[in-house]
Amino acid sequence: MSESRFILAGVMGWPVAHSRSPVIHKHWIAQYGLQGTYVQLPVQPERLGDAIRGLPALGFAGCNVTVPHKVEALALMDDVHPVARRMAAINTIVVREDGSLYGMNNDGAGWVQSLRDADPAWRAQAGPALVLGAGGAARAIVVALLDEGAPEVRLTNRTREKAEALAQELGPQVKVVDWKDRNQAMAGVSLLVNTTTQGMQGHPALDVVLDDLPVGALVSDLVYIPQETPLLATARQRGHRAVGGLGMLINQARPAFHAWFGVMPEVTPALRAALQATF
Ligand code: NAP
Repeated sequence: MSESRFILAGVMGWPVAHSRSPVIHKHWIAQYGLQGTYVQLPVQPERLGDAIRGLPALGFAGCNVTVPHKVEALALMDDVHPVARRMAAINTIVVREDGSLYGMNNDGAGWVQSLRDADPAWRAQAGPALVLGAGGAARAIVVALLDEGAPEVRLTNRTREKAEALAQELGPQVKVVDWKDRNQAMAGVSLLVNTTTQGMQGHPALDVVLDDLPVGALVSDLVYIPQETPLLATARQRGHRAVGGLGMLINQARPAFHAWFGVMPEVTPALRAALQATF
């Protein structure tokens, strides 16, 4: 008799205990009455290859991949979605029927959806965007903005070389701005995005002044712990629409759940409440 009705998925990272992904996926498993579970997979970097190659034998439908494995995991896939290839990182692995591994990256699409949830009229074409930071998350955001038709992406990072490397790779619409000029670079943008770790619990607030940010600009912060970062609070005080990182986290999970469990899950107030309860 087949054992395949019980579906197994998880999140692979190091460390992984802080991840909110189990809350999201377990909520959906219960909501849709599915047979399965979603577990934490703490994997040290030097064991990543063994762990990923072991997924089919262990009967996993797949897993999420989080810090610090997103880049290295891509090289271990048999097949990679073109968007993930451009992001040079994966956040989801799907084990296919033949046991081969397929890598996807839903971070950018999840982020775009979170902006649309906050402002259904939001369009990347509306004007230039300023992206703060040039790490792994920034890469997903810049690729998503270009794919959505942003006319210009201004990119600024404390370590300028990382922004330059990204711009070089992603094309002439990405313009590097020196970190010391980040405040003036807000002039004329329709979107400001923080992809740095600044503003996270345990980190200082992001050091920016919003005086030059146009009144109608949307402000997005990828940080979700805390949900209301100093950047978001200041932006709201100035009358901007401001979007935290929790919506991105929830929305990136939907296509992964669909790939493993066969149901495209809905984002409900009950799910948001379940997540709120963990903060
Ligand atoms: P990462 O690759 O380590 O990049 C960190 C970025 O923060 C780099 O650009 C780094 O600049 C910058 N930074 C660090 N300390 C700084 C400081 N003191 N001043 C200015 N910049 C500083 O991390 P990541 O994976 O991109 O994640 C970045 C953030 O996005 C985290 O807060 C993470 O939680 C969040 N995130 C959220 C979601 C979601 O679903 N909401 C998904 C992914 C990531 P340097 O290059 O100069 O070091």
